[in-house]
Amino acid sequence: MGRALRFRCQPGCIRCCDNKGFVYLTEADLIRIAGALKLTPAQFESHYVYRTRRTLRLRSPRRRNCQFLTSNGCSIHPVKPEQCRAYPFWPEILASHDRWLAESAACPGIGMGHLYQIETALDTAARMNDLYPWQYSR
Ligand code: SF4
Ligand code: SF4
Repeated sequence: MGRALRFRCQPGCIRCCDNKGFVYLTEADLIRIAGALKLTPAQFESHYVYRTRRTLRLRSPRRRNCQFLTSNGCSIHPVKPEQCRAYPFWPEILASHDRWLAESAACPGIGMGHLYQIETALDTAARMNDLYPWQYSR
């Protein structure tokens, strides 16, 4: 990787929210989003969350990838899950410069706008490692 990466989320873009894939939650995400929706954590979980022994994820609706995605973007943007906040600084995307560049096919914000020091991006990726150990620590 170089010393810095350029990235800026593009206005009006919802591509990463609409890509196939699961939106995983932390326990803190669940509590924060439930509160914003004026639900108890248990109510939020029973309506919106699929829990396994090791993971929590949003249930997937039939026609969209995420039930909080609207034509105006994320309806829970201020409280959205850590996974969504961290994108595209995910460990697997920062694994190499080629992988970072390849992700630009999925994210038009890569290579645009703000210059992030590589340490800042790697800090975010390290946080993902801590938050989702079942995914990154094998
Ligand atoms: S794909 Fe990239 S530019 Fe588009 S919404 Fe996601 S982060 Fe922003
Ligand atoms: S929670 Fe919001 S940011 Fe995350 S995938 Fe759904 S719509 Fe996108």
